Amino acid sequence: MNVSHMLSDRVKSMEESATIKMSAKARELKTKFDDVISLSLGEPDFGTPQHIVDAAKKALEDGYTKYTPVPGLVEFREAIQAKFKRDNNLDYSLQEIIVSNGAKQSISNICQAIIEDGDEVIIFTPYWVSYSDIVKLAGGTVIPVKAGIDQDFKVTAKQLEEAITPRTKAILFSSPCNPTGSVFTQQELEALADVIAAHKNILVISDEIYEFINFGEKHYSVGAIEKLQGRVATVNGMAKGFSMTGWRLGYMCGPEWLVKACSKLQGQVTSGANAFGQKAASEALLADLSPTHQMKEAFAKRRELVIELFSEIEGIQCNHPKGAFYVFPDISSYFGKSDGHITIDNSEDFCEAILENTHVALVPGVAFGDDNCFRLSYAASEDDLREAISRIKSYLSKFK
Ligand code: PMP
Ligand code: GLU
Repeated sequence: MNVSHMLSDRVKSMEESATIKMSAKARELKTKFDDVISLSLGEPDFGTPQHIVDAAKKALEDGYTKYTPVPGLVEFREAIQAKFKRDNNLDYSLQEIIVSNGAKQSISNICQAIIEDGDEVIIFTPYWVSYSDIVKLAGGTVIPVKAGIDQDFKVTAKQLEEAITPRTKAILFSSPCNPTGSVFTQQELEALADVIAAHKNILVISDEIYEFINFGEKHYSVGAIEKLQGRVATVNGMAKGFSMTGWRLGYMCGPEWLVKACSKLQGQVTSGANAFGQKAASEALLADLSPTHQMKEAFAKRRELVIELFSEIEGIQCNHPKGAFYVFPDISSYFGKSDGHITIDNSEDFCEAILENTHVALVPGVAFGDDNCFRLSYAASEDDLREAISRIKSYLSKFK
């Protein structure tokens, strides 16, 4: 008997994560064809550095196999506290830091903790896929504030000011940004902070998970701005900078009342994150960061390669990201054009056509709130990147 009608409206109205959906599609296609190249998932293609793996093995041998305190092992929170001081000029007590099962859970916890039905959350757009559904699931209304490629995908203070209403509860963005790779400078963050400071009941949720993959100026945290004290939740995690996506470790610092609420929530839903992973992650944050810097250098090289290859394709306008490992090219000049079989009218058509005809998996920009673009993750080998973009180029030459 099929009782699927039991599904809640809450879940029925949710979108599936487009990044996860596209990578699953590519994985499935790989079982039929051996030439599939997936540039859809935002996951470093490097293994976790050996010293971190060794620390996890040792932790297992040492008996770190039990439940952990809900907000995280003291040792890991101390490492996070030291990291925030060292890298971000953020000074938080252990009671103001909480570890979660990935940065995704940190963001979800915060949204569940503060959003009432109908509260507005301003999301800088293009945004990371999961933000909108996390906010909606918590009962919030998403207010996308859009910045196009002409402004390097960065929302201005003026745009922010215009979007704030008495119902605005929070502002959510990532810098370095997924999917655009854009990075706010200290000056730009200060201009945004001037606007926010004038509105007392707004929390800033700053997602800094790509902090270590930043090719330009030193990373700056909006939470360090004096006039926003007590109103910023800074989210980070081990996944990107340490190539630890599967370890599921994220963390957040913010005001104690918020951290306490997140802890209460987490204590009823997932409990503390895994023990041996936290032990190894403590080591990762405090040890020499050379492996992280080496990965960053490799990404920087690939960025140049990808930008150069896209510059050779007519009709593709590629941005020049300052961080993360994505490009977010504008392909709107292809809209209305056909290869003789299909006509491209939006980013989904574009990615579908590319996947079917070239076996290269990308993610449509619409999933990130910008239907003119697609996202390519260059967390892949240079050979794969060359081959993928060459196939895209030759296929697009058929469009008239
Ligand atoms: N924020 C952004 C901007 C991301 O790209 C990701 C990707 N995973 C996350 C949060 C979630 O990170 P985690 O894997 O630690 O849940
Ligand atoms: N954040 C990555 C991405 O954007 C991983 C997938 C996900 O968690 O959605 O591709």
